[in-house]
Amino acid sequence: MKTALVTGASRGIGEAIARALAKDSFKVYINYLSSREKALRLAEEIGGVPVRADVSDPAQVRSMYDEIGEINVLVCNAGISEYGLFSDITPEKWHRVFAVNVDGVFNCVQRVLPSMINRKEGSIITVSSVWGIHGASCEAAYSASKAAVIGLTKSLAKELGPSGIRVNCIAPGVIQTDMMSGFSDEDKNRLCEETPLCRLGRPSEVAELAAFLASDRAEFITGQVFGVDGGFAM
Ligand code: NAP
Repeated sequence: MKTALVTGASRGIGEAIARALAKDSFKVYINYLSSREKALRLAEEIGGVPVRADVSDPAQVRSMYDEIGEINVLVCNAGISEYGLFSDITPEKWHRVFAVNVDGVFNCVQRVLPSMINRKEGSIITVSSVWGIHGASCEAAYSASKAAVIGLTKSLAKELGPSGIRVNCIAPGVIQTDMMSGFSDEDKNRLCEETPLCRLGRPSEVAELAAFLASDRAEFITGQVFGVDGGFAM
């Protein structure tokens, strides 16, 4: 049975990806940080395994992999956002966004590589954002961190392709999850108006693409950034 680790899988997009991979017969390791109950419930439902770790902490990531062993698919989905004027961002907030969104990917990818390189196979999927491509007012730290994820994805695809490892990135648009809870109805309506398909996205719609990229059906695809955004970014 193939195995997958999905970071930040207790809620939102990560949860949907975990469900989609389980449906495709993967044994799924469900990484979480604070939402223990949700992770446990999901694990029971899909026959997965909950594993707690703060992805920004290399020591916790190491312990998590000790628990897991080898995996075929890594989905680096865990992420946090930060809203506010650039001039109001404190160094602490700036560093925390980068610690989770960028160092988190570094920590998880670096740990998984030795066994993937040994086996000469593996699929790594990172989760960026349309803001990482286009930038967003009042989301400078978040946008910069998500742009870094894209640069990292492309570099890894080039470096790891000869080892049989594919690395792709999903850049979701506005998806209805807890991450959107800070947005007012007015903000959400405005975002819908700016979206050619006239609505916000669902986590399952991002998960469908992740499941495809994880599968052998995508075996000649690497180094790509795929929007799932209703046409928001063109
Ligand atoms: P969400 O609903 O806020 O869920 C975030 C998930 O990340 C939770 O499972 C949370 O775990 C986990 N997490 C946060 N910090 C973590 C850490 N340090 N270590 C391990 N896990 C951590 O967010 P979402 O909307 O599903 O977003 C998922 C990914 O998609 C993020 O990378 C986000 O930037 C990206 N994205 C989202 C949107 C959107 O519109 N929603 C758009 C573009 C990109 P706990 O609950 O267990 O703490």
